[in-house]
Amino acid sequence: MPKGICKYYLNCSFFKRYDTELTRKDKITIFHQYIEVYCFGKLMHDCFRYIHLEKTGTSLSDDITPTGVKFSLDSSS
Ligand code: SF4
Repeated sequence: MPKGICKYYLNCSFFKRYDTELTRKDKITIFHQYIEVYCFGKLMHDCFRYIHLEKTGTSLSDDITPTGVKFSLDSSS
């Protein structure tokens, strides 16, 4: 099981976007939970973004989650 933080965290726009509020439990979203499970957790090496970085050396845009699903904040109610 991986310990510590993903080696790509400095290059990862998803991490940079969602890591900052992890201590604010009132603002936790599914994206912050991804950070805990993937970036600091046992699914790190299964992260879609991690695998992409390993293969290509380039980081995906921050709207691609560690599961590989692209999300949009434009969904209207
Ligand atoms: S989202 Fe994936 S590539 Fe980015 S820091 Fe987390 S585990 Fe690493």
